[in-house]
Amino acid sequence: MTIECNNQHECKRKRERWEELQQRFCPLGQKELDRFLEKIKKGKAKVVFDKHFQKRSLERSVSEIDVKEIISYGWVIERNKTTKSKSIVLLGYVGRNFRPLHVVFDMVSDDLWVVVTAYNPKSHAWKWNDRFNKRICFCNPEDVE
Ligand SMILES: [Zn+2]
Repeated sequence: MTIECNNQHECKRKRERWEELQQRFCPLGQKELDRFLEKIKKGKAKVVFDKHFQKRSLERSVSEIDVKEIISYGWVIERNKTTKSKSIVLLGYVGRNFRPLHVVFDMVSDDLWVVVTAYNPKSHAWKWNDRFNKRICFCNPEDVE
């Protein structure tokens, strides 16, 4: 397991590309989030938790309430789209100690989002800038957290 960036030159290049893309796509994700929240308020959309969420969230002490706070008060830091799926990463702060939390949603449809995972970015601090809103290390793309 990597505990720090082991290819700074390559990651700097990827970071520039990432920032360029996210500058374009985060505002789009933010609009999708706003629309989704409107639908939730009207009872026309719902959030479900991936079956793996419960186990992982216990290990990481992330509750469903934390996730609901993030969806209401967090903001989009990353939006990814492939031919098969659309996902976003939200950042927010929870609890008395304002613990940072990232929540990854699979945007299955306009009225159904699945919580894939949630984690404290401090546990992989080298992957993020000091505000936890920009990815700076891309060494293990399969290990998205
Ligand atoms: Zn790296």
